[in-house]
Amino acid sequence: MQLPHNIYVHVPFCMSKCNYCAFFSRACINPDWDTYANNIISELEHWGALMGRISVPTIFFGGGTPSLMPAHIFARIIDKINSEFNIDTDCEITLESNPGTIDKNKLNEFINIGVNRLSVGVQSFDDEKLKFLGRRHSVCDAMNLINVAGGAKIRVSADFIYGLPGDNVTDIIQMCNQINNLGITHCSMYELTIEPSTPFGKMNLDMPSNDTMADMYNAIDDTLKLHRYEVSNYATPGTQCRHNVNVWDGAPYIGIGRGAAGRVIIDGQWYEQMGNGEKFVPISNATRAIERVITGLRTTRGVYLDTDVQKIINMDYVRANPDLFVQNPDNRIAVTKRGMLILDDIVLNTVG
Ligand code: SF4
Repeated sequence: MQLPHNIYVHVPFCMSKCNYCAFFSRACINPDWDTYANNIISELEHWGALMGRISVPTIFFGGGTPSLMPAHIFARIIDKINSEFNIDTDCEITLESNPGTIDKNKLNEFINIGVNRLSVGVQSFDDEKLKFLGRRHSVCDAMNLINVAGGAKIRVSADFIYGLPGDNVTDIIQMCNQINNLGITHCSMYELTIEPSTPFGKMNLDMPSNDTMADMYNAIDDTLKLHRYEVSNYATPGTQCRHNVNVWDGAPYIGIGRGAAGRVIIDGQWYEQMGNGEKFVPISNATRAIERVITGLRTTRGVYLDTDVQKIINMDYVRANPDLFVQNPDNRIAVTKRGMLILDDIVLNTVG
């Protein structure tokens, strides 16, 4: 009897590349969607044959720009997941979307096929900043999509980027107040990071200082009427992204599509996987426990101290730093608000 597995499906196409983006995606106005779907279906058959009819609590279509996909291609993929596995009746099915690539009719088609959560790449309430980031859409396009999704009575999340050159705490507070006014119940707030391989990586940008970034990060938590449940994610109670919560908590997931990696467990053995067996490497319980600490400490719920985690976690460091760690009731260790600001250092010391 195999455990339930969450499924991530990668859609590696975008209309154009944004100036900051190092994700695995290709600018392509007219992708060959049938070939794409055939490849995804062959991967699903591979995992179905290997794992049997496991149950699927969540499916996440990420990218790239999954909302570029025609609805009939999305239907083929969902049908295949359904025929290989058992999709839970309350399965959370998320679609990442970009404004301007999906309208009311197309969204309704996706909803009829199964989407019940839409993540919208809003990124900014300022058209100049959108242009600077290399986004193709306007604030108006984004607001239209948020309204359409809200009217469709599905769960809606919005992504934002802060910490652009020239950004200050006042800008961020204003952005958070606008999010509050929209009544969005879930948002992801990502600090702009400069990746060397991107156009921004070659521009020698004058970024805000670390202190300003930290002040902006705290201002988000102080201003949003949502609760932070992960280092960059905020939600009202009960509307967290179940897919990500499961993955961060160490639940198994299959990565489908080029560029997608997963962690599957078969007959008690963990594997790192990618593609149709392109990568299928056993990983030890100790390695898996380290991964769980790394992702678990990003969440306010924290990492569950099972026997594998207890073997690798540096509890002397945890106990010596009560300002950085908090013991949560159900045998979990989490990082405090102050700790979230220096999470990378904390993780190194906790599993080092
Ligand atoms: S739309 Fe998203 S995935 Fe595509 S290039 Fe922009 S940031 Fe990257």
